[in-house]
Formats: sequence, structure tokens, C-alpha cells
Amino acid sequence: MKVAIMGAGLSGLACAITLEKYGVLPTIFEKRSRVGDRFVNGEALMPIFYRPINDCYAYLSENHGIFLQPLANISKMDFFSENRHGVVNGHLGFINLRGRDDESFECQLFKQINSKIHFNSDNTYEELLQDFTHVIMATGDAAYALQVQNFQVDLTVSLKGATVEGNFDRHHVAIWLDNNLAPKGYGYLLPYSEKEASITIGYPDYSENQFLNVESLWDRFYTKVCKDIGQNLKITDQFEVNRYTMGLCEYPRLGNTFFTGNCFGAMMPAFGFGQLASILTGIYVAQDLCGKGKYEELAKPLKKSYHNSLVIRHAMEQLDNHKLDILVTILNNSILNRLLINKNLNPLEIASHILRTFTINKHRKSP
Ligand SMILES: Cc1cc2nc3c(=O)[nH]c(=O)nc-3n(C[C@H](O)[C@H](O)[C@H](O)COP(=O)(O)OP(=O)(O)OC[C@H]3O[C@@H](n4cnc5c(N)ncnc54)[C@H](O)[C@@H]3O)c2cc1C
Repeated sequence: MKVAIMGAGLSGLACAITLEKYGVLPTIFEKRSRVGDRFVNGEALMPIFYRPINDCYAYLSENHGIFLQPLANISKMDFFSENRHGVVNGHLGFINLRGRDDESFECQLFKQINSKIHFNSDNTYEELLQDFTHVIMATGDAAYALQVQNFQVDLTVSLKGATVEGNFDRHHVAIWLDNNLAPKGYGYLLPYSEKEASITIGYPDYSENQFLNVESLWDRFYTKVCKDIGQNLKITDQFEVNRYTMGLCEYPRLGNTFFTGNCFGAMMPAFGFGQLASILTGIYVAQDLCGKGKYEELAKPLKKSYHNSLVIRHAMEQLDNHKLDILVTILNNSILNRLLINKNLNPLEIASHILRTFTINKHRKSP
């Protein structure tokens, strides 16, 4: 068996680590000049999106021999709507770094592989297919899956973010749910040190959003963040991502080609979490290749979480700013707080179930 992995990101590297564990040495083709050669930003791993997994780091090391270190745990999350502020306390997840930093997830995974990486690769999928028995698509986008009509796009999202300097508590993150700042979307602040944080807005590219001026949204968001946290933040770096695709592959495997990470459709549409699912798809493909399971079967819970998350996103998109104020007031409730952090409950599953029932009943009442 000769395995090529196209892309040395989260899913590609997780796949390589797992293949090596079973004695297969893949060859990795990375189009950039080094691992993690992209903007630095803070990202989060939140177990409430992946229940029954409660601690993603412990889960990966104990079950899959993949060792990652977070920057900090999240013990408090502030929610800001147009007129309200709510707080959720408890062990909510972890913050980690991505991109050009030694501590980024990509760099941590890179240190765990022995496989050869061809950097600055311009090899096409078709070329790899000629030289290898199996090709793993791990390029972080749905381009090829779309080309072979194996990907259902549910939405695309525009993102604009920046690194800011200020004074931060490394364990506190903040979310903005306000249509004036990110219509049908959200904004967030994720600290990655006591002095630096990522602030980002993301909103769907629906037709009603196509004439939005991202610069004026961004100015409003930046001003609101500074006001809400009571600091004059200094912007040191900026990034923009256009038409970031959220959707799913119909077939995770087509012949001897496997789709992992965002090529599979690992992004959860509600809040854009995709890191753990990307790592898991990489692991599952390796397990399939080494006769330890079937990728299609192993990936089924991820597909289910994706669909639950899509229901939540669509429901949240219906909320105007008044309803978002109510939502943030509800989130501030201590009973709901406890339910959210209860390890035995799956809030994603429960919320999507209630929303599905509500939507079905609503349709029945008004045919
Ligand atoms: C701004 C932003 C914030 C995010 N925040 C979060 C968050 O807080 N929590 C969370 O869980 N998820 C978050 N995500 C999503 C998460 O980052 C992705 O789901 C995850 O990185 C996808 O992993 P992947 O393996 O599919 O791709 P990546 O990790 O992006 O790796 C893809 C690799 O393939 C390489 N490549 C691309 N094309 C080619 C080619 N033709 N040939 C060879 N190599 C190629 C790239 O250079 C890259 O190294 C965020 C995403 C963005 C954009």
C-alpha cells in the first residue's frame, strides 16, 4: 500500500500519525513552504459540541495516541447582544493556537510524525493517483469534493479577524450575538496570552448579506468590543477569509480516495468548530486503511453532529436583535449554566431535537 496525503494540516497530520502507528509510512504533499504557514489565530475546542467526549485532549491521547497541549482552559464565557450581557461559568473547553507559531496545533502534530513531507508541492490529485494506491484529500477546503460532485454546500461564510493587544484573562472568552455587527452570524474574542487575543466576525454569504460592507461591520465590531471590555485595543495583524465553505461529502470515500477534515465537511455550522472533527476524520481514514474499521461508519456520529449543528444555526438565524437579547438573558441563568456544562448531557443534541420538533409542529399548524 502506497499512501499519499494531500495537505499537512490537522486532518492530514493526524492521519499520518495514526498510519505510522500501524506501520504504514505515508508521503505528504503540502503546497506551502512549512507546516502552519498561515495567519496566527486563537481557536477553541469545546466539548459541548462533541459529547460524549468531555475532554478532547484526554480523549485524543488516551484513545488515539495523539498528544496536543492547549494554551489555556476556558472557565468563563461572556455573551454580549445589542442590549444585554450574560455570563456562563464552568469548564467550557480549551483555547489553542493555529498557524505560524511553534505551539500551534499544526506544529505540535508535525513533531509527532516521521513521514516525509514534500513542501511547496504543486502536485495535482490526478498526479498523486498515478503514483499511489490511496490518496487522502486533506487540503482544508471542499474544492476537489465539489469538482467530483461529492459535496453538498449548506452555506459559505465571510470572516474578518485581527490580532489585538490589550490585557486579557487567558481563561475568559467573549461572544457577540448582534445582527448589527455580524448579520445572522457572530463575533468573538479569544485570548491567546495575557497580552494578545484574536477578535473575529463571521457571517453567512446569503443574498441579503451580499451588499454588506465588511469594513463598516468590522469598525462597528471593533468599537463595540473595545467598549464592552473597557479597553482601547491595538490591532497588530489582520486576516480575511472569503466564502469559507460549510457542507458535507456524500461519500467520505470514493474508490481509493478519502476526504478528511474540511474536504469531508468537518465544520460545525452553528459556531464554526471543525478542529476536533478534522483530527478525528484523519484518524478514522488511517484506521480504515489499516483494517481497524470502516471510515463511513466511524464518521457517522460526525455527520449527525453536523446536521444537529445546522439545525441550530438555522434557528439562530431567525432571531432578531430583540430575541438575541432574550437569548443572552436566558444564557445568564444559573440553571441553564449548569445544564450546559453537565458532562452527561448533550446540549447540541437536545437543542436540535427541540428545534426540529418545534419546526415540524409549526409547519403542521400552518400548511
Ligand atoms: C478564522 C477561523 C477560525 C476558526 N476557529 C475555529 C475554532 O475556534 N474552533 C474550531 O474547532 N475550529 C475553528 N475553525 C475551523 C478549523 O480551523 C478547521 O475546521 C480545520 O483547521 C480544518 O482542518 P483541515 O485538516 O481540513 O485543514 P487545515 O488544517 O486547514 O489544513 C489544510 C492544509 O492543506 C494545505 N493545502 C491546501 N491546498 C493544498 C494543495 N492543493 N496541495 C497540498 N496542500 C494543500 C494547506 O496549506 C494546509 O496546510 C476556524 C477556521 C477559521 C478559518
